Amino acid sequence: MPRHHMHNVIIIGGGLAGLSAAIYLGRSRRDTLLIHSGRSMAKWERDAQNYLGFPDGIDGNDLLARGFAQARCFNAEVVEDEVNALKHNREGWFEVASTAQLYLAQRVLLATGLTHLLPDIPGAKNCLGKSLFFCKDCDAYRVQGRSIVIIGTNNEATEYALSMLLFSSNVLICANGSPSRWDTAHAGWLGEYSVPVIQEHIGSILHDRGQLSAVVLESGESLGTSRVYDSRRCLSSRPGGASGCSIGQRRSDCRRP
Ligand SMILES: Cc1cc2nc3c(=O)[nH]c(=O)nc-3n(C[C@H](O)[C@H](O)[C@H](O)COP(=O)(O)OP(=O)(O)OC[C@H]3O[C@@H](n4cnc5c(N)ncnc54)[C@H](O)[C@@H]3O)c2cc1C
Repeated sequence: MPRHHMHNVIIIGGGLAGLSAAIYLGRSRRDTLLIHSGRSMAKWERDAQNYLGFPDGIDGNDLLARGFAQARCFNAEVVEDEVNALKHNREGWFEVASTAQLYLAQRVLLATGLTHLLPDIPGAKNCLGKSLFFCKDCDAYRVQGRSIVIIGTNNEATEYALSMLLFSSNVLICANGSPSRWDTAHAGWLGEYSVPVIQEHIGSILHDRGQLSAVVLESGESLGTSRVYDSRRCLSSRPGGASGCSIGQRRSDCRRP
């Protein structure tokens, strides 16, 4: 078996979290390897306006490029690869494996992020990051005064709708064919603030180069809309699925059906 270089730390994930960790560990003079598969959610940020130090906004790809350059400044090694297995071996080292390579380290830091699940609606992908969003904290400010459809069925969807009323008086919830699952307190608040709820399936989203013009229901009715929020459903992308469990990590799944 070939001899492998032993790193102090391997970071899995080259998004904002992994890169920040690489900068700190590099500056702490730890022999650090960052492995990433090039799929950071930040690539979808066309114009992030909430990061300290960028009052004119910054494209997520630019931010990532700066992060990689900064991590390398402090001697963090960066490799683009997909990790598919992770285990603690008998010698006490972590073995981090991709299809072609085996990497070894004393410590592993998982920074693999979450993947937002897009609603399965024709047109949705084209609008992502332009007029369809997941996060009210990142994007509510930029949709002020627009007509807004929140897609969702749970308490979180109602909380999205209620908080969006601070930004627009034209907010409705579309359950997209699923039964609503919010509790009675949330149902009461929707009534109190007169937020309309539509149960019907969405047939498609009409847009021009990602800028939404309407949400078309299966009945053919068209909701004149300029922005859509999908209340978050996300999937963790730990390497090798549940491999975290094999190294003693406890897992909490944030998938929200
Ligand atoms: C459309 C859109 C717009 C957004 N706009 C904003 C905004 O304006 N402001 C804001 O604050 N946030 C915004 N966000 C959210 C922001 O992008 C995320 O919160 C942030 O990227 C999370 O960073 P992270 O490092 O945790 O994960 P990510 O950036 O997603 O990075 C995960 C990393 O792990 C890697 N990885 C995963 N599995 C493996 C594996 N098996 N092997 C190797 N590597 C692996 C990926 O390739 C990636 O490098 C937006 C998100 C989206 C989708």
